Amino acid sequence: MTADEKTSLAEFLDLAAAVTGSGYRGEKREYHFSDDADSGKAAANVPVADTDAADDSLEKVAAAVRACTACKLETTRKNAVPGEGVLNPLVMVIGEGPGADEDETGRPFVGRAGQLLDKMLASIGLSRDSNCFIANVIKCRPPANRDPQPDETAACASFLERQIRIIKPRFILCAGRIAAHTLLNTTEPIGKLRGKFVDFQMGDLTLPFLATYHPSALLRNEDLKRPAWEDLKLLRTAIEEAVK
Ligand code: URA
Repeated sequence: MTADEKTSLAEFLDLAAAVTGSGYRGEKREYHFSDDADSGKAAANVPVADTDAADDSLEKVAAAVRACTACKLETTRKNAVPGEGVLNPLVMVIGEGPGADEDETGRPFVGRAGQLLDKMLASIGLSRDSNCFIANVIKCRPPANRDPQPDETAACASFLERQIRIIKPRFILCAGRIAAHTLLNTTEPIGKLRGKFVDFQMGDLTLPFLATYHPSALLRNEDLKRPAWEDLKLLRTAIEEAVK
């Protein structure tokens, strides 16, 4: 589906909800969908470093990601995975990088871990369709899901930075050790990093940042579910404070 088709569908669903619900249609929402991966990979490598922030858009970042040849992962990926969700989200979720399902579809967090992530978000009133944006530190799948290498993370860094500047999230929820280590520039164990908000500094921007366990770690180890739930409750409380 193209971005325009998705927008039309979302607007239709909004309208249907209004008609079948209270009858009141709230302010028209703005959507920023990307074309599905199979709607074409651009041929050239698009330079990313000197993008003028005021002119930048999620669509431009997505096109640049799909055209990127800056590291070796472009030779093994099926589809790059720019990310998806809404502009001005309450929460930007940042994971590690695409797995097999994401590589296949060009969409973030759609495999088993992604389905669990969606449930975790839903449990505190969050969803990629209405108030979240979901992205990864790296946009292309490393072969056999190995950890991203430093040159790959570096090659991708400006995409994430542009996305953060464009969407202006209220909070960042960081999923897992790799993403937390990359974004906080630390090697502290995830068990020490989770459970508290820290300031995430990006140039002139400071955002409240909460690290938690990666959903695939929760699928492997039941014992991590309780602390992950504590993290979600912390996020929910912070959101409630921020929006009241
Ligand atoms: N794991 C991640 O970190 N990101 C995805 O998009 C999927 C699985």
